[in-house]
Amino acid sequence: MPAAFISRDLAPTHALRALAVLEAAGHEAWIVGGWVRDALRGCPAHDVDVCTDATWQQSEVHETGIKHGTVTAIVCGQPVEVTTYRIDGDYSDSRHPDSVTFVRDVREDLARRDFTVNAMAWHPDRGLLDPFGGCEDLAAGLIRAVGDPARRFEEDALRILRAVRFACRLGFFIESGTQAALEAAAPTLNRVAQERIGSELRGIVATGRASWAIREQREVMFAALPELAPMDGFDQRSPYHVYDVLEHTLRVMEGVESLTSEGASERLRWAAMLHDVGKPTCFTIDNRGQGHFFGHPAEGMRMARALLRRLAIPHELAQPIVALVRYHDRPTQPNVSSMLSLIASVDAMSGLRERSEVIRLMRELLCLRRADALAKAPECRGYAYELNEHERVLGQIEREGLCWRVRDLAVSGGDLIRECGMSPGPAVGEALSRALGAVMAGELRNDHDEIIAWLARSLAE
Ligand code: ATP
Ligand code: MG
Repeated sequence: MPAAFISRDLAPTHALRALAVLEAAGHEAWIVGGWVRDALRGCPAHDVDVCTDATWQQSEVHETGIKHGTVTAIVCGQPVEVTTYRIDGDYSDSRHPDSVTFVRDVREDLARRDFTVNAMAWHPDRGLLDPFGGCEDLAAGLIRAVGDPARRFEEDALRILRAVRFACRLGFFIESGTQAALEAAAPTLNRVAQERIGSELRGIVATGRASWAIREQREVMFAALPELAPMDGFDQRSPYHVYDVLEHTLRVMEGVESLTSEGASERLRWAAMLHDVGKPTCFTIDNRGQGHFFGHPAEGMRMARALLRRLAIPHELAQPIVALVRYHDRPTQPNVSSMLSLIASVDAMSGLRERSEVIRLMRELLCLRRADALAKAPECRGYAYELNEHERVLGQIEREGLCWRVRDLAVSGGDLIRECGMSPGPAVGEALSRALGAVMAGELRNDHDEIIAWLARSLAE
């Protein structure tokens, strides 16, 4: 049991100041929600939310944005969310309350919050206010709904996914009554706006424990991401595989965590989850009864792109994920030209600007491939070690600044017009592409004069 005590020193000065200003004006104010939960766990780094009986018109703190009684106050240069005590009206659509009513008692505000560990308030003088046993659940590692779980999930189905997200984040279990209600309510997730689902899924994936969520909260995760469901129990009928598509995928997700000491990037985590999402659609059986998944990376790319768009995952995150899915399985030799051609393909799809960012993504692709190999049949796992050679070649490409982009060539379109007598037009771009192809294949050095001479010769032919 953690000491149900938060030392005043843990609270950021700007938050204490916000409380002091509100209370000096005759109002009551508390710190609530995530900061209190995390401070009790010994991690007081969470942003601070303040709750008060003052409505924003009355509050003395400087308001910068007002939405449904929420003010983002800038106190001592730091943002503090200040909300007025409220209860939600009916949820006729399982999405948002039809109305919000301001109330006088902080306990009523705490009662509308989702889980006991999130429904505590703290004040530097008055101490902890914990009407629903949040502190005890925190010590026991339990996510428990405040009040009747079935009713709470009916009010807002997003709470189903929030429960899973907090369980993943904190490494907690879901209390059995809450768990039963959540499973029963899982199908109602289809009423929740896709971008809200997307943002909770991002939260789940970012914990690195999405494989736990899929194993233990299968129905919830399938309801949130229906593309995962056909993978469950899908027999690959292949000598390369000993697991069905979903079990293989879960092992790849766990593999990228162990290969990165649980430090995988958010995009690598998504890509591990989605890398084989195209497999069920692409399944064929040959006349010897062996299963194949021809074209599954391209199909996976299409599916990943569509589902990430539907979930409103930002484009800058979605593009590299899609590139990892598309190229997770492309045959590559551990030599410079083969690796350069893979890098060029990944680059074109990733939307990344800097060469160094593309190299970083390539390292993540190799990590995905390693995890993929290690989750196949024992005979295939050696490929994970062969990838050390690919990694070495990648290091060489990075060190030597070898080029895979037209703009890295030692000649520009202008040079071709001036020095080879070409007229402006598409032919210039085509000539540059040919030169790049030859440089990448190791047939031509990336040297201005050599490229000009090579192109002049080829144009004369
Ligand atoms: P984090 O931001 O670190 O994920 P948090 O606890 O701050 O965790 P938020 O989603 O920022 O979570 O919400 C702030 C608080 O508002 C929560 O602690 C919870 O008390 C309450 N809350 C948020 N969303 C809901 C909801 N859908 N239903 C009920 N209460 C909610
Ligand atoms: Mg928060």
